[in-house]
Amino acid sequence: MGMQGKKVAVLGVADRESIAWHIACRLEEAGATVVVGYQQRFYSRVRLLLQERPGILGQKADVLDGDELDAFFAHPAFAGGQLDGLVHSVAYGPPNVFSKPPSEVNVRDFTETLDISTHSLSRVVRAARPVLKAGGSVVTLSFLAAQRAMPLYGMMGVAKSALESLVRYLAVELGRERIRCNVVSPGPIETLAALSEVVALKRDPSALEHMPAVRLREILARHGMDLSALKPSAEPSEEDIVFARKVWREVQREFSDRSPIHDTVNAADVADSVEFLLSDGSRKITGQVLMVDCGFSSCLMV
Ligand code: NAD
Repeated sequence: MGMQGKKVAVLGVADRESIAWHIACRLEEAGATVVVGYQQRFYSRVRLLLQERPGILGQKADVLDGDELDAFFAHPAFAGGQLDGLVHSVAYGPPNVFSKPPSEVNVRDFTETLDISTHSLSRVVRAARPVLKAGGSVVTLSFLAAQRAMPLYGMMGVAKSALESLVRYLAVELGRERIRCNVVSPGPIETLAALSEVVALKRDPSALEHMPAVRLREILARHGMDLSALKPSAEPSEEDIVFARKVWREVQREFSDRSPIHDTVNAADVADSVEFLLSDGSRKITGQVLMVDCGFSSCLMV
């Protein structure tokens, strides 16, 4: 799709399952020079990935650390204003954000969620501006829970709504330089961030008291999983992760059953769409949310 020779920054690699890692691999295969950004705490995992794919470069980039972001965009690969594409695949919310009723989420937890998951896009764009080329492209990731309330997503949905709005304002700001800014919004994919939403529920089962979550309860009951029998646990255990994977697969199955295309979305599907939005083929598309969800969001009662 015309990525040959382009230089791209991809922020948000934590492990092999990270959507950002799939995007980075796809872009590299398509001929781009790719620098991935990661948090220092995930370095041991990311180092192994980079050893496997020596064509992909890496540097730490915590979005809460302005100096680290500046150093990331000063990478020699982007020297002389050579950055063509920027992918922001970053989100975080403390467990309470997913499990507490919205009216009980405190300002500290909500602010942290907005800071990392929403406002970071603005800071990343600012740090990238000195090297971001005219005609370049910025892509971030959101989820349908930005537009509809969904059990287990809580105030992260509010942060994603703000992210989608921010993209429209950035599109206006950057448009004079013909830099595009868009969102890819995929259906559910099994990753670290996705599983931690379910683990938050497992750690604080009282979260269910405030939400009917009728469909979720039905689906799980069908498979012998009784949410009301959950025991609170302080730290996520191996058993919690196994539980979270089962729940997440059921959520994926539900999405698949109710979509015009009866299938689940995977990170490779997302990588294809991101590649398109970074390529010249999308040169007149900006400020948009591209739903990569087998059509789930486009229909009712199917
Ligand atoms: P992931 O956990 O692999 O990625 C989240 C990334 O955010 C991690 O790499 C983490 O290190 C990074 N991050 C968190 N705090 C950071 C900080 N302070 N500085 C720098 N990076 C930080 O999970 P993922 O599913 O690949 O998530 C990537 C994006 O895709 C997120 O925006 C997520 O909301 C979005 N998304 C995921 C799904 C899904 O089902 N997995 C669906 C729709 C959208």
